[in-house]
Amino acid sequence: FEKGIAVEVKDLSYSYSSGRPALRGINLKIQSGEFVALIGQNGAGKTTLAKHFNGLLKPAAGEVIVEGMNTLKYDTPELAKTIGYVFQNPDHQIFSTTVEKELEFGLKNAGYKGREIHERVDEVLKYTGLEHCRSVHPFSLGKGERQMIAVASVLVLRPKLLIIDEPTTGSDWAGIQRMMALIHKLHSAGTTIVMISHDMDLVAQYAKRVIVMQDGKISLDGSPQEVFANEGVLSQSALVP
Ligand code: ATP
Repeated sequence: FEKGIAVEVKDLSYSYSSGRPALRGINLKIQSGEFVALIGQNGAGKTTLAKHFNGLLKPAAGEVIVEGMNTLKYDTPELAKTIGYVFQNPDHQIFSTTVEKELEFGLKNAGYKGREIHERVDEVLKYTGLEHCRSVHPFSLGKGERQMIAVASVLVLRPKLLIIDEPTTGSDWAGIQRMMALIHKLHSAGTTIVMISHDMDLVAQYAKRVIVMQDGKISLDGSPQEVFANEGVLSQSALVP
């Protein structure tokens, strides 16, 4: 394991029980502190690849090493302490009747107790600008705020790597700005970011590296300028999710 590498993927292939292979021989390295956007058409394999980064899926062939941990050798709750994963639909990740309880939930699950829980919840509510909705039911809030809560409930574990699947889909303009400002702030503070997105304007504006997936493989990998200079990438990747 090389120091300074957040994710290392070697010859990764994966098939769901039905259907064609979803990943076909992926090789990839992501350095600590990078801001990577994962783009590509619907069904290209972005979510399947990202789920391998925190052990939600385990390689059928090949290896995934994240923050020095081979995902085959660690269970998912253990990996979740270092690698945060925010699902495409935040509502799959909301379990509690208030925002505060929602943030406490993940900490309790991870074995934190008492004061540590309160300190971390306060810290993240402040960091994410969600203090005003501490006592509010998550489902009384809009989609953009629910997405922020899903991110916040992952941040309480202070992940080194944050994987975010479509964080702005369905949000209004203000919600998109808030979410991207938060992701940008985390990146500036040193968190490694992997963002799946179909919004090419946001990708061009925020990501430092763009990885294009096509049919279970990486078809392009470079700076936004390099990748978007390639004809067809924009029209293929900017599909509605
Ligand atoms: P999207 O942009 O629509 O989210 P994606 O690039 O994230 O797409 P994946 O969701 O990784 O693509 O899907 C890759 C392939 O695996 C597709 O052919 C998809 O139909 C298939 N697939 C995804 N999830 C499952 C599942 N749970 N069971 C069976 N096949 C699946």
